[in-house]
Amino acid sequence: MHKENEISKLTEIMSKFIGLVSYRLPDDVESKLKELREEEIGEMAKIIYKTMDENQKLAYEMKRPSCQDTGVLQFFIKCGEHFPLMGQLNTILREATYKSTMETPLRHNSVETFDEYNTKKNIGTGTPSIFWEIEPDSDGVEIYTYMAGGGCSLPGVATVLMPGEGYEAIVKFVLDRMTSYGLNACPPLLVGVGVGTSVETAAMNSKLALMRQVDSKNENANAAKLEQLLEDGINAIGLGPQGLKGLKSVMGVNVVNTARHPSTIGVAVNTGCWSHRRGLIIFDKDLNYNMPMHKGEVL
Ligand code: SF4
Repeated sequence: MHKENEISKLTEIMSKFIGLVSYRLPDDVESKLKELREEEIGEMAKIIYKTMDENQKLAYEMKRPSCQDTGVLQFFIKCGEHFPLMGQLNTILREATYKSTMETPLRHNSVETFDEYNTKKNIGTGTPSIFWEIEPDSDGVEIYTYMAGGGCSLPGVATVLMPGEGYEAIVKFVLDRMTSYGLNACPPLLVGVGVGTSVETAAMNSKLALMRQVDSKNENANAAKLEQLLEDGINAIGLGPQGLKGLKSVMGVNVVNTARHPSTIGVAVNTGCWSHRRGLIIFDKDLNYNMPMHKGEVL
């Protein structure tokens, strides 16, 4: 295929994929919401879960976003060193964001900082955010697509703890944030906790934690234990769906960690809301694709 045609094809597919992510929640989130709904005993909690379910049915039927806040688009790319459109990918994703904004449509969420005007395109200086990783010996590409809404971005926070404070301080840091800001993010939440050396490594880890499946476990036994303890602790707050009380506050807690400087414990929190709109699309070099988090869908 001619390069220009390949660029148009990938732009078209990504634009449609962004649209799909906006109105159809990923499989893991759908099934977790169903599970949480069945567990709840309070009348208000049951009503809210029922409303969420109806909202999703209508969003799917009408092909309209699950929530009015379609966020700022964020892409996390793992690109094979031999993927034919590697050099064009940033431009393609910006164009696909604009196209989907017009066609899906998506709310205009890109305001130029300090100049205070909305570009009305969902593209602006540095938006959408695109984060790269290069994969050796590969000619395909994996693209996580995430809609970072205002409410669910609001609890985001990062700090660097003194090493003597220990891992217990991570628990306090996360719980302090959940008891003060958790409510703003439309529970039940997917809580991403990142651990590393400094604020930016911890922050990136905490966002990558939101790309991981609900109900997945950290491979490290101690980190997996921390995930469980945090999940139990945040559930005990009793936020319930939309913060109106209930048995469960979270869909889950995912921890992503990297090695750290011996004198620091960098930690960050990021939250995904009940309408956790993230998806994964994987292309081969011929632009054949699959969407492992949205099984059964075609673009
Ligand atoms: S937190 Fe999520 S569900 Fe709530 S308004 Fe923001 S994007 Fe919508």
